[in-house]
Amino acid sequence: MPKDSFDREINYLRISLTDHCNLRCVYCMPLQGVHFAPKPELLTPAEIETVVRAAVSVGFRKFRLTGGEPTLRSDLLEIVGRLSAVEGVGDLALTTNAVLLPDLARPLKEAGLNRINVHLDSLNPATVERLMRWGTFAQIWRGIMAAEEAGLVPIKLNSVVTAGYNEADVIDLARLTLERDWHVRFIELMPLGGGECATLSVQRYVSNIETRRRIEAELGPMTEIGSSNPGDEARNYRLAGARGVIGFISPVSEPYCGTCNRMRLTADGKFHLCLLNDDELDVRKTIRENPRDSIPRIARILERAVALKPTGHHLLEGRSTRERSMFQIGG
Ligand code: SAM
Ligand code: SF4
Repeated sequence: MPKDSFDREINYLRISLTDHCNLRCVYCMPLQGVHFAPKPELLTPAEIETVVRAAVSVGFRKFRLTGGEPTLRSDLLEIVGRLSAVEGVGDLALTTNAVLLPDLARPLKEAGLNRINVHLDSLNPATVERLMRWGTFAQIWRGIMAAEEAGLVPIKLNSVVTAGYNEADVIDLARLTLERDWHVRFIELMPLGGGECATLSVQRYVSNIETRRRIEAELGPMTEIGSSNPGDEARNYRLAGARGVIGFISPVSEPYCGTCNRMRLTADGKFHLCLLNDDELDVRKTIRENPRDSIPRIARILERAVALKPTGHHLLEGRSTRERSMFQIGG
């Protein structure tokens, strides 16, 4: 398994499939002025499979498809089918806003997808429309139900806590874990890309210390539980008698860089070394110029990317990635 220069075992690749999205969450994507990568710049299903074969050859085992909104790729089922058939792919997951899952959940499961994370910031329809803009609570909820029925489990919900929008809604979200064996995870806002969403992410930041306090004040104390996954970015808790898990992902108040086990591939074919830095190594050019022996070449680039992975971020000094926003990296 590849280790970086700080002895972290890097075995998890997050693959962005597109920078397009059918929603416009206030902290992620502006309503206007978005520049999208031209289609010929996006990696094809065969090229993505090449990168995954290279990653497996150097010890990567976990893969996640993200975006933008990955379900917008018309060739998503082909991509999932190709990747799930690669020997050595131990876990294949998808991060989605779930709007298109009513039609896609079952075919995705049949194509080999193991599980999904769904992004939902509130159970209150009015808040969802204010915060996630182009989608509705009803659409997302239908998508979650379809995923559960299709067996894309355990269901993990990701909620970004945003002051003035949904900080009080965390209680109803947390309450879901009393009845359901879901993971409900609260994420702290991060400023990426330097634009209006980055500014909002600083202004509307809510610490997970506060979110946890709010939940416990209403629903009682939580007990910390361990994670079976050493690279889990969430600190996990359980409410008394609950079936599910409440997780806190706290890149700002409690950075987890020391146990980060992930590398990212952008939709336009670059290894992005850390979510919160700009460093990248190009992959697409190597694949397109060396069709016959691209797997070993990509494996070498990936090893270099792992060796160069930064050890920490500079959010507290006000620095983050400026070249790309969240929808261009994949979270
Ligand atoms: N569209 C899919 C979704 O929303 O799940 C996948 C891509 S989205 C960029 C991945 C994750 O990034 C989502 O869970 C979303 O909540 C999170 N995210 C987006 N902007 C963020 C920000 N400024 N700070 C923290 N998390 C953010
Ligand atoms: Fe789209 Fe996901 Fe970004 Fe929301 S967080 S705008 S759903 S990419």
